[in-house]
Amino acid sequence: MRVRPVAIVSALVAALAVAVALAHAPTLWAWANLAGGHEAFVPPPSRIRPTPPGPADGTVVKGHWRVQRIDAGAYAIGEPQDDPDNYEYLLIGTRRALLIDAGAAGRDIHEALAGLTDLPVTVIPTHLHFDHTNGLRFFDHIALVDLPQTRARLRDGVVRLDRLAYMAPLSQPTPAFRVAEWIRPDGDIDLGGRTVRLLWTPGHTATSVSIYDPANKRLFTGDMIYTTTIFAFMPDSSLAAYVQTADRLLAALPADTRIYGAHCCRNDRPATAPWLEMSDLRDLRTAVQAVRDGHARGEGFLLKRYPVNARMTLATLYPFGNH
Ligand SMILES: [Zn+2]
Repeated sequence: MRVRPVAIVSALVAALAVAVALAHAPTLWAWANLAGGHEAFVPPPSRIRPTPPGPADGTVVKGHWRVQRIDAGAYAIGEPQDDPDNYEYLLIGTRRALLIDAGAAGRDIHEALAGLTDLPVTVIPTHLHFDHTNGLRFFDHIALVDLPQTRARLRDGVVRLDRLAYMAPLSQPTPAFRVAEWIRPDGDIDLGGRTVRLLWTPGHTATSVSIYDPANKRLFTGDMIYTTTIFAFMPDSSLAAYVQTADRLLAALPADTRIYGAHCCRNDRPATAPWLEMSDLRDLRTAVQAVRDGHARGEGFLLKRYPVNARMTLATLYPFGNH
């Protein structure tokens, strides 16, 4: 029997289409979740981040921000009633202040900063997703982690985010910004009287960073670890990186370090600056390793949710995604 050329070509085209679809499945899936109301896709409990009960902690500023004092030089600035429900953090030195993440909703976070400091503010995004970079356009002193992947985004002095890095719905144009300060992993950021350190903490994304304040034993982790459901299903999420990052932090930081994440809130409690402990990081490491080893029992198929502990679950892709 002779196979007609058109049949061979058709089979090749079909195989190519399947390969392309599989290769892009994590991206398409993440987008579908972000753009289409992720509750529809996620196994029970159906809401990936439950709405916190009761009024949020902190002073309400301009009807949007919740400003919470951590100490005289550190504040949490929350957007807990919004979706996404981000928390940003402000660390104040004697010469300048550092804002960790720029705001999620595209509102100018200077509304909240005005009452807290008169010093110049440097802003650093913990990673490049829209809910951490939307407010960058309101700043002229932006710091960014100095990695080959972030440097590669530089064109004519401007960092340009593509759709994969930004991860916003298609209706939001991708941002471009100038970087005033490139900071290498383990590099110090001197605020005057307070020096904090940038730690490269990949897992949620490949270029995610955390800011460590050694004098106060606080670690600001962005989306590497936070309360409720951790998103480990982004196109450049990596479970292997999660394990390595957790091991490095557990070995390097004091056991009583307090972790502040970027997303709200602790389950069944009114919204407050979402904090965790190093034991939670250890629990996350254990859960991720169990997923990698095939021992963990999760709910769902394409997007799977695994228990971590009473404060966190882990949402990751179908079994062969996100390695
Ligand atoms: Zn986020």
